[in-house]
Amino acid sequence: MSAFLETKIEFLKGVGPMRADVLKSEFGIFTYYDLLCLYPFRYVDRSKFYKIKEITEELPYVQLKGKIIKTETVGEKFNKRFLAYLKDETGVIELIWFQGHRWLEGKFKTDTEYVVLGKPAEYRGKFNIPHPDVDLASDESIKLNSALQPVYPSTEKLKAKGLDTKGLMKLQETLLAQIQNKVSETLPAELISKYKLINKEQAYKQIHFPVNPQSLKQAEYRLKFEELFYIQLKLLKSKNYRKQETQSFMFEKVGHYFNSFFNEHLPFELTGAQKRVLKEIRGDVKAGKQMNRLLQGDVGSGKTIVAFMSMLIAIDNGYQAAMLAPTEILAQQHFKTISRLAEKLNLNCRLLTGSTKAKERKTLLPDLVEGKIHILIGTHAVLEDPVQFKNLGFVVIDEQHRFGVAQRATMHAKNTKAPHILVMSATPIPRTLAMTLYGDLDTSVIDELPPGRKPIQTVHYTDAKRLRLYGFMKEQIKLGRQIYVVYPLIEESEKLDLKNLMEGYDSLSQEFPLPQYRMSILHGRMPSDKKDFEMQAFAKGQTHILVSTTVIEVGVDVPNASVMVIENAERFGLSQLHQLRGRVGRGGEQSYCILMSSYKLSHEGKIRMETMVRTNDGFEVAEVDLQLRGPGDIEGTQQSGVLNLRIADLAKDQQILQLVRQIATEILNKDPLLQKAENQILNTQLINESKTKINWSKVA
Ligand code: ADP
Ligand code: MG
Repeated sequence: MSAFLETKIEFLKGVGPMRADVLKSEFGIFTYYDLLCLYPFRYVDRSKFYKIKEITEELPYVQLKGKIIKTETVGEKFNKRFLAYLKDETGVIELIWFQGHRWLEGKFKTDTEYVVLGKPAEYRGKFNIPHPDVDLASDESIKLNSALQPVYPSTEKLKAKGLDTKGLMKLQETLLAQIQNKVSETLPAELISKYKLINKEQAYKQIHFPVNPQSLKQAEYRLKFEELFYIQLKLLKSKNYRKQETQSFMFEKVGHYFNSFFNEHLPFELTGAQKRVLKEIRGDVKAGKQMNRLLQGDVGSGKTIVAFMSMLIAIDNGYQAAMLAPTEILAQQHFKTISRLAEKLNLNCRLLTGSTKAKERKTLLPDLVEGKIHILIGTHAVLEDPVQFKNLGFVVIDEQHRFGVAQRATMHAKNTKAPHILVMSATPIPRTLAMTLYGDLDTSVIDELPPGRKPIQTVHYTDAKRLRLYGFMKEQIKLGRQIYVVYPLIEESEKLDLKNLMEGYDSLSQEFPLPQYRMSILHGRMPSDKKDFEMQAFAKGQTHILVSTTVIEVGVDVPNASVMVIENAERFGLSQLHQLRGRVGRGGEQSYCILMSSYKLSHEGKIRMETMVRTNDGFEVAEVDLQLRGPGDIEGTQQSGVLNLRIADLAKDQQILQLVRQIATEILNKDPLLQKAENQILNTQLINESKTKINWSKVA
């Protein structure tokens, strides 16, 4: 990067040490470069003024002109607000501040024209504008030569130092006036010309002060292109590196265990997709380089058997295998399934979780080191130091997003070379997101359900149909089926949830009285042996209904349960709803998912319900989820750095992402580790990028 861009921010005219401090602490802006990368989060057309009566909540930022007729401070302590009433010829609107009262009091003169800029909100049927920017209409600085004026994110601390959006805009102006010929290009000339991109310097100018929408588009395209391109290049390059450099164990043969399982004990015929994935894994593990493979498959697609058979290959070659699950219940479930299969081959399979008794550990740990255990299944407990293997060669991680990269690395260290790793995700991730979240992994997809499954029927009922729901549940129980009833769990208010659950349980108990009906109950606050007891009762078919919070969300397998009732369904995210639905439809019976919600739903809530009713396809559900909520709320993104994108948006910029991934692939095909002279600019940039990693998630 040019020395100019690395200049410390305090040296910029108009900054100085005090402002520099807040810029650093609030936004991580240390250098000129960092400031340039603080892109506007929207632009306002300052040539347009709205009338107060035109205001609706849906409007984005609006600009109003009028006089402030009155100001007042209302409320006490935490509820204290400063109000100013703005009037134009069409009406009056409240401007409202929840902070900064002292500074605001006395700031506004009546009988003076002001220009107000902000985002309208609605409260109790009335519109207001929270924390607007207010300027004297006579103020020249708000009239720019560009019609599109940038709006920058700011914070109370920055505002207190005069760095509201206008203050930040001034700084950008000052900086941009100096950058002529001081910004070096960060993309190869070929790409610039082939994809008709504007140059970097131009991009900075146009992103901050676009002269028209066209110029803004060019700048956005160039910057998004670059951002996504370097992410893909980095991921794909590190994948190449791993494939070329990271040694792992070579599983040369498929031997006795795999073959005898395949020939004699396979409980069902594998689907085409399962066979294909097994082949992909087999191809990896015999190559001698470390496998890092993501296996995606919708709930119920049959990932477990694939994982088990992959572990058999490891065992056939004299290695041990481990399987990690994110929760105790899941680990137990896997243990049950897998030890049953392993028994047929006389393999020793053991379970290790947080609640494994000390006495049992005493035999388990030595057995593991001595190689008497072939397969270890467990939770995070497996990652702990005292857990040492004789010769760990293969690790399956179920539900990846609950574990992080760090945990993967811990498992690497459990042998002299990194074992092969198979990551399984039951949360389908949209392709574009997967490319970025798991771009350095190879991926396999099980895109075919086992035969004979009937698609789950999903309906959406409002509370008015509760009696109908109960009637339906009784019918199903009569047919010998079992039913889940799930209540939402919101971490901030465990008490409330418990109340919800308990009230639900009480009214269900009246509707489904003993001895005719039996119910299990399960929630996060129960001790784990009690949970286990209740879960087992349901799994063994001793109870008809399992009432629970979302602890059953992942992985639990009770094939006879064919009805999933989700209470307050509007409080769940789409991927969670889909996960829950996946608990049924596991046997041969027609299964049902019933979404109960109140009558009044938000726009987004409606889309969620409609999507669930419309499709059973997890990838489609995930795609809608991404569009609705953006990548930030999709599970697994928080730890991943996807949120640190400065300008690109994985939900909206899928086309650019596909393009740059293609370009990066082509470049790396010719030069896998970017060693050729012509690719030095790429390498340099990758290094620079890793140096200037700012936590942009704070900015939004
Ligand atoms: P998931 O991918 O959600 O982990 P599981 O591995 O738990 O799915 O499989 C779901 C159910 O489908 C299990 O009861 C399993 O025994 C069954 N199953 C898996 N593969 C097949 C198959 N090829 N044919 C029939 N049933 C299968
Ligand atoms: Mg599973």
